[in-house]
Amino acid sequence: ILILGIESSCDETAAAVVKNGREVLSNVISSQIDLHKLYGGVVPEIASRKHIEKINQVIEEAMEEAKVTFEDIDAIGVTYGPGLVGALLVGVAEAKAISYATGIPLVGTHHIEGHVSANYIENKELEPPFLCLIVSGGHTHLVIVKEYGKYEIIGRTRDDAAGEAFDKVARAIGLGYPGGPKIDALAKEGDGKAIAFPRAHIEGAPFDFSFSGVKSAVLNHINHCEMKGIEVNRADIAASFQEAVVDVLVSKTMAAAKEYGMTKIALAGGVASNKGLRRGMELACKKHGLSLFYPSPIYCTDNAAMIASAAYYEYKNGTRHGLDLNAIPNLKIGQRQ
Ligand code: ATP
Ligand code: MG
Ligand code: FE
Repeated sequence: ILILGIESSCDETAAAVVKNGREVLSNVISSQIDLHKLYGGVVPEIASRKHIEKINQVIEEAMEEAKVTFEDIDAIGVTYGPGLVGALLVGVAEAKAISYATGIPLVGTHHIEGHVSANYIENKELEPPFLCLIVSGGHTHLVIVKEYGKYEIIGRTRDDAAGEAFDKVARAIGLGYPGGPKIDALAKEGDGKAIAFPRAHIEGAPFDFSFSGVKSAVLNHINHCEMKGIEVNRADIAASFQEAVVDVLVSKTMAAAKEYGMTKIALAGGVASNKGLRRGMELACKKHGLSLFYPSPIYCTDNAAMIASAAYYEYKNGTRHGLDLNAIPNLKIGQRQ
């Protein structure tokens, strides 16, 4: 089964051809980061316009690289939420147009379920059930993947997403957008024990997260240094912030694995490429006898191969969408149109 995946939920225009959910024949990504970093973050109107400019070319390249034509494609998997509505609409309209013109079935796909499915691409032996820590730019969830396409959310952030916290802290110390990879790099030069930033634990909700406190603590630390005329050590801030976030992510994931009897852990979303998080999880999983899976960095951030992978399992479960498929900006995990 060959799936053409299409992704346009945020600031990456992407298309990919994936065989049987796991074998990537092509994975084309046109990132708009250089445009948006001028503004310190994603500007929705610019994102939509850029998707329109790029999408045909990106799909053509993905088809060419995979050496396939539309006659070879069994289904089109397209992200229809969550994300920016104008950005999502570009991919959804394109997928519907191709489906209408060629008769290829349409499978609307959940962006975050795509991030989870990125784990299937390089870990051929990974099958549900497993526990997945989703840490992306807009979402932080602990979910149990019960079967392909069946999710139970057991924890979520109460405020900022993990990636959002990385981006905000990066901005505060002048690193620019997107901040995650820059904090990750700078943290290597700093001391993670230099500043004791808070680790948030929520009374009565052991698997929920909160990152606004650690973000505020970083801002307070910077203000304090400036008021006292102490030089701000950006590398120590990056390292200490990262360590605080990683500590919480690792300890809650371990507690959830124990509570739900899970032996396999997967990481998903852009922050899953964070070196501190990978190292922390590796140590903890080894200690607790758990197996750990995570995608290569290129499959952690937004791409269409992960969408094609998720769409494959949806397709096998019988999901088909009509030309009334619409973009749903706040689509929930497990929700279907
Ligand atoms: P969502 O998937 O929730 O809609 P998104 O698509 O914008 O949001 P992703 O593509 O999953 O998010 O990831 C982007 C996020 O990952 C950004 O917040 C970015 O800073 C963060 N990120 C990327 N690389 C790293 C890294 N090495 N360390 C920490 N954070 C990172
Ligand atoms: Mg992005
Ligand atoms: Fe994403």
